[in-house]
Amino acid sequence: MRGAKCDLNTSIMPRDKPLPSPRKKSRAPRTIGLTRATELYEALAQDRPEPRTELNFTSPFTLVVAVALSAQATDVGVNKATAELFAVADTPEKMVALGEEGVAEHIRTIGLWRNKARNVIALSQMLIEKFDGVVPSTRDELQQLPGVGRKTANVVLNEAFGVPTIAVDTHVFRVSNRTGLAPGKTPEQVEAGLERTTPKQFKYGAHHWLILHGRYVCKAQTPECWHCAIAHLCKYTPKTPDPATVSKLGPRSDASPRKTGM
Ligand code: SF4
Repeated sequence: MRGAKCDLNTSIMPRDKPLPSPRKKSRAPRTIGLTRATELYEALAQDRPEPRTELNFTSPFTLVVAVALSAQATDVGVNKATAELFAVADTPEKMVALGEEGVAEHIRTIGLWRNKARNVIALSQMLIEKFDGVVPSTRDELQQLPGVGRKTANVVLNEAFGVPTIAVDTHVFRVSNRTGLAPGKTPEQVEAGLERTTPKQFKYGAHHWLILHGRYVCKAQTPECWHCAIAHLCKYTPKTPDPATVSKLGPRSDASPRKTGM
């Protein structure tokens, strides 16, 4: 053909078989979808109809302090420390009067206690000076308080003011990713995903259900899939088998020896 370039590569390709696009990969969607998300929350809600935080508090102020202290600490550990702390200082004024050293004395058993003692005093001072000693009920104002980030603000909004926020801590992050409910690489991505996939009627309890499920069933080291109420909806593989069944069956004869250092 006059004027036309001959392309050797394409001229030998059969015309009825288009080249596969290298960008398209056939893999299952990572999210579980709205219908399954609804079923998942229904199952979690059946297990725990009225989920609450396991942190002890008596007022929005003691809640803010307890949540701020709970970073990189267990709720049980925080409750032990705050039982004595709140007995002597359950208002911003009393906390400031107690002073940084006084607060530190009560929370030495909690990780990062020095920083946290400083923040508790600073946030109490700001509450007195800027908010008349009252814990504010908006995210922007809460996040102005020293030591209060997005996660703490979300917990306080939800627990103290009944706002249907979903705070993403380590448990919520893990469960959301493993199940496919809201996969994400950062807490912000997971929170945005949960906002999209959580049906309205479950938004208020979502944070608690996911935390408690992560704490007691979908544990970090070994998820206990064999007694998990949402195993049939979860995308995580392979599921952990029931250790009782595994020990009855005994070790597999074809099992290769475990490598050390894994
Ligand atoms: S099936 Fe396993 S991985 Fe999935 S949520 Fe339940 S415990 Fe977690």
